[in-house]
Amino acid sequence: MKNYRPLSPSSRTIMTPGPVEAEPRVLRAMSYPVLGQFDPEFTQLMNESMEMLREVFCTANEWAFPVDGTSRSGLEAVLVSLIVPGDVVLVPIFGRFGLLLVEIAERCGAEVITLQQEWGSVFDPEVIIQSIHRHKPSLVAVVHGETSTGQMQPLGEVGTACRELDILLVTDAVATLGGTPVETDEWKLDAVIGGTQKCLSIPSGLAPITYNDRVERRLKQRRSVEKGLQNSEAESSHLRINSNYLDLSQLQDYWGPSRLNHHTEATSMQYGLHEGLQVILEEGLQARFARHKLNEEALVAGLQAMGLQLYGDKTSKLPVVTCVQIPSSVNGEFTRQMLLNHFGVEIAGSFGPLQGKIWRIGTMGYSCRKTNILQVLMALEAVLIHQGMKLPAGEGVQAALHRYTREDSIIQQAMR
Ligand SMILES: *Cc1c(COP(=O)(O)O)cnc(C)c1O
Repeated sequence: MKNYRPLSPSSRTIMTPGPVEAEPRVLRAMSYPVLGQFDPEFTQLMNESMEMLREVFCTANEWAFPVDGTSRSGLEAVLVSLIVPGDVVLVPIFGRFGLLLVEIAERCGAEVITLQQEWGSVFDPEVIIQSIHRHKPSLVAVVHGETSTGQMQPLGEVGTACRELDILLVTDAVATLGGTPVETDEWKLDAVIGGTQKCLSIPSGLAPITYNDRVERRLKQRRSVEKGLQNSEAESSHLRINSNYLDLSQLQDYWGPSRLNHHTEATSMQYGLHEGLQVILEEGLQARFARHKLNEEALVAGLQAMGLQLYGDKTSKLPVVTCVQIPSSVNGEFTRQMLLNHFGVEIAGSFGPLQGKIWRIGTMGYSCRKTNILQVLMALEAVLIHQGMKLPAGEGVQAALHRYTREDSIIQQAMR
């Protein structure tokens, strides 16, 4: 046999919009012995994860469970299970992940209508609502936190408008879940998809989703077709859900009390999810959101003190991703390579029209902590100075430190 080097991945400071560093407790949980998928110990773990997911999604929905696969498996499962070929679907696009929703919806046979918003900003909700009234789609699919541009779309008013017209609202909250509020019930979101490798700090491989009884009713209609009730054969094949692996009606029978066999559950991933959700609820959602906000503020203060310009509309900035304009005097990719090779720090570039124009720095989950923020600021400053940029040396880290020490003194005062 060829001699392979023993596996020993370097430990990195990952400040991208995903995957981010995993919670150490999650990694330990993933190494526990495998249980059979119908072992009562395992089904109890599944039920507990459903309970915890309801809390994280802020919902009273019965259905909240993970789909096996990366986040887009959750997007595909929801869309393929809800879209009947020929359905009109509206997708407001304000970045790359809107384009992904369009692509998936088209592959499901939808007649897709798109709305375009200039990248780096979000829609005035009224614009989406007017389009909903004009086109009367059967479904609206929208991204909450657009990681490609660092923008966050407000959704409450859109949710109310969809509910009034009995239109389903599907939301990609992959980037936001666990890092900033995602109010499934309050915003009237019918189906929401999250991701593990972002603010939940669990390795990539599951897509937690939730959906309400409005969605379940549509699934049931298609299910009865599947069983050959009522309809003609032609109608049946038209309504049948075009996937086995991602058929939500079958997945819910597996996650629900009937426990009908479907796929072989990814045991170790489920350990990771359960442990990760427990860590989140122990921290508390509000405390977790406040931590994300504090570290984002420290990062932004640091970058601005270094003289760097942020990209995008400040008023709709996504708190878990900060986009920075690449100064014209430096090479964006070379900078990223130096950060990784010399400092073990990873930040991201961007896509399409933004490629080579911005860096994206994530403040997500376990990666979102003081030592990481200070490290990325120090490393970035060093690499920019190395490329001949004139910077007010040391100011970035000082500005971030000021933000942290101000917080410390607020906490100390409160404790007195
Ligand atoms: C990361 C991301 C996805 C895709 O997730 P995968 O896990 O790579 O499938 C989808 N939407 C948004 C907003 C994301 O940030």
